[in-house]
Amino acid sequence: MLDERDLSQEQRWHYQQLTKKCLKALERNNIGACYARDRDEARSIVLGLIPEAATVGLGDSVTMLQAGITQEIESRWGERVFNPFRVGPQGAFTVGGRDQIDLMRQVASADVFLTGMNAITLDGKLVNTDGFGNRVGGLVFGPRKVIVVSGANKIVPNLDEAFRRIRDVAAPINARRHYLKHGMDRPPCAVTGECSDCRHPARICSFTVIVEFQRPPREGRKPRITVVLIAEGLGI
Ligand code: SF4
Repeated sequence: MLDERDLSQEQRWHYQQLTKKCLKALERNNIGACYARDRDEARSIVLGLIPEAATVGLGDSVTMLQAGITQEIESRWGERVFNPFRVGPQGAFTVGGRDQIDLMRQVASADVFLTGMNAITLDGKLVNTDGFGNRVGGLVFGPRKVIVVSGANKIVPNLDEAFRRIRDVAAPINARRHYLKHGMDRPPCAVTGECSDCRHPARICSFTVIVEFQRPPREGRKPRITVVLIAEGLGI
């Protein structure tokens, strides 16, 4: 029987349309673009992009956790994985303080860097915001290969909407997540749900990077940055 309350098909269709449009725009900016119909397909695409002998650096990404990508990489690449955001059974990060920063430095020199994304515009720009800078640093320079994994819910019409999404949605939820799940300090948005352009020591949005364009790869080479865009809602 027809269920008028279930809009999952329509939502999926909408994500598929946005994803395909966005991937074409990314390619126009020389950014590698892979379509994944769901998280399972995304996981298999991502794993296929990482050479067996590579060292792998991870940025903090709920999308990659929800897609099981982080877990699979940890299990297959073992000691060659640098993950500053590995959590223990109680939720706290297993490595903290200076050691965590050192691990972030190792991420910056890994062969392959994987990260989530805060927003992707329909004209093919990547927008990422970060508190430490590790997630945006690896995106810009360092690792030879960068794989961005994102759900279609991150697609926005333009840069203004990208900044709005980051400030009004992603940052407060992420700050609250770090407080609840990892025992981190709370900037104001983790209390009120709104950004107050704070100067709090635990501010999570200090660095914003926009990737507008990538130089075309040399003949026979793949683009340095590849986006695996998933036609479903994932992450923050
Ligand atoms: S500036 Fe402060 S209050 Fe605003 S989103 Fe960032 S951490 Fe939250």
